[in-house]
Order: sequence, then C-alpha cells, then structure tokens
Amino acid sequence: MKEKLLLHVCCGPCGTHSISVMKEKYDVTAYWYNPNIHPYGEYEKRLDSANIVARNLEVPLIEDDYEVENWFDQIKGFEEEPEGGKRCTICFAMRLKKTAEYAKEHGFKYVTTTMTISPHKNAELINKLGQFHCKNNGVKWIDSNFKKKDGFRRSVEMSKEMGLYRQRFCGCFYSRNPEGNNQEHQKNKDKQE
Ligand code: SF4
Repeated sequence: MKEKLLLHVCCGPCGTHSISVMKEKYDVTAYWYNPNIHPYGEYEKRLDSANIVARNLEVPLIEDDYEVENWFDQIKGFEEEPEGGKRCTICFAMRLKKTAEYAKEHGFKYVTTTMTISPHKNAELINKLGQFHCKNNGVKWIDSNFKKKDGFRRSVEMSKEMGLYRQRFCGCFYSRNPEGNNQEHQKNKDKQE
C-alpha cells in the first residue's frame, strides 16, 4: 500500500509532470493554497487548470482558502523586491507552512510541492523551507527538483496535451508588472471595495 503524500500544487502546468512522477510511489492528494495569485480572475483560471490536471491524472484536489489579505500582510515592506528576492522567500514559506499544517491535521505522512519544476525558482531554498515547516509539524518533507531529467520540458508537453492555460507571470501583482505594480494593486483593491 502506498503512503499518503500531500502535494502542494502551484498551478496546473507545474502539476502535470510532478503529479505523474509522485504517483508512481505515493498515494497523492493535490493541495491548492495559493493566495499569491492576483487578481482573482487569474486565480480562478489557474485553479481551473489545476482541476483539469487532477481529473486527468485521477488524483483528488483539495482547495484551501484564498487568504489574499494575509498574503499582502506577510510580504509588507518587501513589495519592491526583485523576483527571486525576499518577497518570494516569504511567499514560498507561507504556502509551505500552510501545506505542512494541513498535512499534520489530516494524517498525511509526506509533503512536497510542484514549485521546484520552475526553472525560475530556487529549488534548494524551497526544499529548505519545506523541511523546516514539515519538521515543525511532525510530517516528512520530500526534497524535489522536478525540472531535472527533462521534467520542465515534459510539463510543457503535457500542458499542451491537456489544453491548459499557461500563465506568463509568476503570480502576484509585483511579478506581473514590476514597474507599476503598486498602482495596479491599488486600482484592483478599489474595484473590490
Ligand atoms: S514573484 Fe512569485 S514567488 Fe515571488 S512573491 Fe510573487 S508570486 Fe510569490
């Protein structure tokens, strides 16, 4: 019998190859917690993609809350950081902490994330943060670097086969529009209020 793995999925395209690989060894449940995706319409598009992948690969997908205000609180003071800087470290940590907590509460033995498939993300840092939060919650982190062994190329192929929406920016307002990000975020907030 396979052990239960909670796999944090950051978007559908990153889920494709990563879920396939982990399914070979584990009983995988995909876990969606990504309050870093803005605006809400973009969040919905990516969640739809993740659901398509989960259906295609026959794994359950758990959708957790869109705690967007909490995300903005956490990254406060680091808005202007370049991609790959401190804002991203906080963003990774927030999502991995929540994933580890969920795994503990719901009896998952193992945890990892699809985020390491991205050529733009620091897999070593993500693995360190994952190890830290899993240790704090008494669950086991599995180190990954899904982009290796042609993993990223395979994820692009699988995304095309499944007809997935493929985003052109990481997720937050700041990654979409590094020049005028604050104005755009403010406009969006004004519309929501
Ligand atoms: S660029 Fe990506 S990883 Fe960095 S803070 Fe924005 S959404 Fe998070």
